[in-house]
Parts: sequence; C-alpha cells; structure tokens
Amino acid sequence: MNCPYCDFAGSRRELHAHLTDEHSEECRTSESWAGRHYELACPRCDFTIRRQIKPRLQDPKFLEDYAREIRLVAFDMFLYHLEAEHEQEEAGA
Ligand SMILES: [Zn+2]
Ligand SMILES: [Zn+2]
Repeated sequence: MNCPYCDFAGSRRELHAHLTDEHSEECRTSESWAGRHYELACPRCDFTIRRQIKPRLQDPKFLEDYAREIRLVAFDMFLYHLEAEHEQEEAGA
C-alpha cells in the first residue's frame, strides 16, 4: 500500500506504523462542550473520520497520554477506508 501523504510504500502493517510515527499530526484531537474527539481527514477525498474519545478518563493529561493509542485506532480505520475506496485507484494508476 502507498502512503497518501508521501511516497512511502509497504505492507498494511508497515504503513500503519509509518502513519502513526510520521504523520501523527494528521490526526487531530479536539476538546469542546461536546466532548473530546479525534479527526482524520482523507487527503484523497472528502471522507473524514470523526469519533468521540471515550470519556472514561477525566484526567486532563488524557489526550497526551493516550495520543498514540488514539492514533493507532484512527489510522487503522483510515487504512480500511484506503483499502475500500482508494486501493483500486492505485492498482489502475
Ligand atoms: Zn508517509
Ligand atoms: Zn478517501
């Protein structure tokens, strides 16, 4: 699979690690009256993953401490989207 942000290519597992390590800033977390959310927008279409972060921890450091785990989950969902929507584009390109 190819990275949608740069020219990295690798297996799904390698791309997952690559996205989490190199493109973590693409996954944004926000906090508002509606709760904590993370957002990840696909650079190839207008699809956006937006999920509420489980409010199981009220610790203000939650977002920092769990940033990596949140990103692992977010990029995993993003990979499903890439596979479902953009793999065929790559194969045909
Ligand atoms: Zn990349
Ligand atoms: Zn997309």
